[in-house]
Amino acid sequence: MKKVLIVGAGGVGKVVAHKCAQATDVFSEVLLASRTKEKCDAIAQEVEAMRGTKIRTFALDADNVAETTALLKAEKPDLLLNVALPYQDLPLMDACLAAGIDYMDTANYEPPEYPKFEYKWQWAYRERFEKAGIMALLGSGFDPGVTNVFCAYAQKHLFDEIHTVDIVDVNAGNHGLPFATNFNPEINIREITQEGRYWEEGEFKAISPMSVKCDYDFPGGIGSQPLYLLYHEELESLALNLKGLKRIRFWMGFSENYLNHLKVLENVGMTSHEPVKFEGKEISPVAFLRSVLPDPASLAERYTGKICIGCDITGIKDGQVKRVFIHSLMDHEETFRDTRSQAISFSTGVPATVGAIMMATEKWKRAGVHNIEECDPDPFLETMPKYGIPWEVQELDPSGAIA
Ligand code: NDP
Repeated sequence: MKKVLIVGAGGVGKVVAHKCAQATDVFSEVLLASRTKEKCDAIAQEVEAMRGTKIRTFALDADNVAETTALLKAEKPDLLLNVALPYQDLPLMDACLAAGIDYMDTANYEPPEYPKFEYKWQWAYRERFEKAGIMALLGSGFDPGVTNVFCAYAQKHLFDEIHTVDIVDVNAGNHGLPFATNFNPEINIREITQEGRYWEEGEFKAISPMSVKCDYDFPGGIGSQPLYLLYHEELESLALNLKGLKRIRFWMGFSENYLNHLKVLENVGMTSHEPVKFEGKEISPVAFLRSVLPDPASLAERYTGKICIGCDITGIKDGQVKRVFIHSLMDHEETFRDTRSQAISFSTGVPATVGAIMMATEKWKRAGVHNIEECDPDPFLETMPKYGIPWEVQELDPSGAIA
């Protein structure tokens, strides 16, 4: 039995706390640490009331390597599960190295000063993790995360050659508010307002933000939805790890209402991370915006509808052209009943827990820094439905793939 330390008590941290508490055959002890201890305590109370599991909580500044190292040395968990913000990835990896503890996260490191989604900072830790004999698992959310695992599964079982991957992500739910983001607003807005990019024939190609659109027909009663081409971090590692790949793109669905609000916020400078002077203090407009937007976790109670995320993959099997859509559907009301959370937080927190279970049970055990698609997809995909996310492979007509 293993002991896990969760860092970050936001929307995703809450789901991870519920799901680690549910994994009583794997984790004998669950600890939760975050900047604001009251948030940890509220989650711990809810988990105890709903599942009967006690979670010990800690106040922690995860930017402070010495503070995290001291907590790791005192508590000696088997694994640190990082669901704080991407800014904390490197300090938490440093603390894990100092204490000799395995590490995992759901989003790649970003410097706070500018949005730059690249694995280079974390890949630079490979040798140090190998030498220390500990593992860092990168990107065990849904996208990145399950989408990478779907690609690894397709490569292992469904195709001889994979030619194209289109990752599609739509939230067809409704929270009834004029504007809100489904996960941390600052990270969400940074992701959407950056330049779009996709990988084709060995190189990344850039497009201006939100300038390429398609319609995609989703299963599960969702139907046709408009999607926009964005850059997303899993493109970088999958372009390296999928053999013979010709093109990989990422598409996300947004309503007209969401895009109109975002455009206005952008036009008035509220999405900028460049500091401005306000009443004698320097503030970042997007960080301030975060403080006035709804907390994504607070949307859960009112959310209805479904989300669907998956990989539309084309390639060759036994000499024939083939196309599949490997995907999961989640329903906001069902995820609320299970963890008092909306489906976006749920879709990240469940795979984070499943990744932690893979490491804790040593189904995935390799020293060094690894992206999730480097690991065997089978035990992960066998385990995920037990924690609330089913998945399915749908065979599709190759001629209907996104142009
Ligand atoms: P939230 O903003 O809801 O939660 C983040 C939590 O981290 C908060 O509790 C916050 O504390 C805490 N935190 C921030 N800075 C520090 C610090 N210096 N020390 C300790 N704790 C800190 O975000 P989400 O839960 O929505 O997202 C969590 C992570 O999941 C993000 O990295 C996000 O990018 C990732 N994600 C990944 C997805 C995927 O599919 N791969 C999808 C969605 C999200 P406080 O409460 O005090 O602010």
